[in-house]
Amino acid sequence: MPYRIPPVKVLSQSITEVIKEKGMVISQRRFSELVLKKLKDKDPEFSASEERIRRTAIFRNLARIQINYRETKDEARNGKCPVCGSETKEIHNQTLLGEDVKLGFKCVRCPYWTGPNRRVPVRYTFLSLQEGVIEPAPKKRKRAEEDDRFSQWKFA
Ligand SMILES: [Zn+2]
Repeated sequence: MPYRIPPVKVLSQSITEVIKEKGMVISQRRFSELVLKKLKDKDPEFSASEERIRRTAIFRNLARIQINYRETKDEARNGKCPVCGSETKEIHNQTLLGEDVKLGFKCVRCPYWTGPNRRVPVRYTFLSLQEGVIEPAPKKRKRAEEDDRFSQWKFA
């Protein structure tokens, strides 16, 4: 089936339309379906991958993205962000004694970050820039405590 790559302007417009209509979409697949529908209204041959739609939403600042994670047993490493492909930088903190403590890595462009154990995204929520953040209820108490532990750190 023939397809055409939509110009970034057209893709951005389609993303904005979906966000305006839905306010919040709690799955990448669903979000992509809605955006593709908008694209195909403009040209039936337009298509875009889930990744391109996500990256465009982030880089053009069209939507806020919340990321749900699964924590792996692997050690976190520096490298490309799994969410948007940008660089990540190390996050660290100083103890009262002046010791440098490595905490993990954070993306320079999007909200992705990981602790010392590598975290992988399992779900994306796309939200309007205007609406308040609705935190999904923690599945397990343990995870909530972990998040509390991390939340005190300020990421510059
Ligand atoms: Zn990123």
